[in-house]
Amino acid sequence: MREFRSEAIVLRHLDYGEADRIVTFFAPGHGRLRGFARAARKSRRRFAASLEPFASVILHWSPARSGGLVTLKEAELIDLRVGLRADLPAIALAGYACELIEALFAEEEAQDQVYELLRTLLDHLSSRGGTPLARLLFELRLLNLSGYIPHLLHCASCFGGLPGPEVRFAAEKGGSLCPACVGKGRSVAVSLLTVGSISRILRGPLSIFAEIRLSPRTLAEGERLVADTLRCHLSRPLRSTGFLDQVLPFSASGEVV
Ligand SMILES: [Zn+2]
Repeated sequence: MREFRSEAIVLRHLDYGEADRIVTFFAPGHGRLRGFARAARKSRRRFAASLEPFASVILHWSPARSGGLVTLKEAELIDLRVGLRADLPAIALAGYACELIEALFAEEEAQDQVYELLRTLLDHLSSRGGTPLARLLFELRLLNLSGYIPHLLHCASCFGGLPGPEVRFAAEKGGSLCPACVGKGRSVAVSLLTVGSISRILRGPLSIFAEIRLSPRTLAEGERLVADTLRCHLSRPLRSTGFLDQVLPFSASGEVV
């Protein structure tokens, strides 16, 4: 039978029976897959301690027979990301990032840029810990890759310019709105400077987390804008957000006005 070998990131795992494990992983060129690792908790020779969430590994697997789980044969550890495991905000953000990818992308959707974004986020969390800025950068870039990024620098309704300095934003209407189009209904207030900064971030490389600085206002408004956009596109709240909001709260109120 054909066998695959690829670098991958473990998104999560579930213990099964006495010693087996079901592992959800993300591999470039393959997308997100679920694999069955027989005797994973006993076989140190085949799997060692490598099937831990957020670890980078080399995985060997054979394909699923009929759309079910692939069969994991062997795993070699590349990086367990020990630094991440000592920092609660980093653990919470890593778990949230993995769940958000699962919510926005289908299984086996080969999104190599998403893989690269996750890998660089996890490396950043491992060396620098979790911060509200890292969360925002990840969310914005992931929304962009998923095609859900809203209109920012022009009105989502009439495509006209935005006079500023304040803009109303409503994800369910497609993004920023000019005064003539805002109408009634829920929207959040953001400054034109914030939508400009976000657009610049989205034009920049995916992999830079450490060198980006945002003013407290831009960070708070960016959080509000992203929260509104995710609310619009997620069919249900994510399990990981409760823990994340506890250990890494929003930098300011994400309230919708
Ligand atoms: Zn308009």
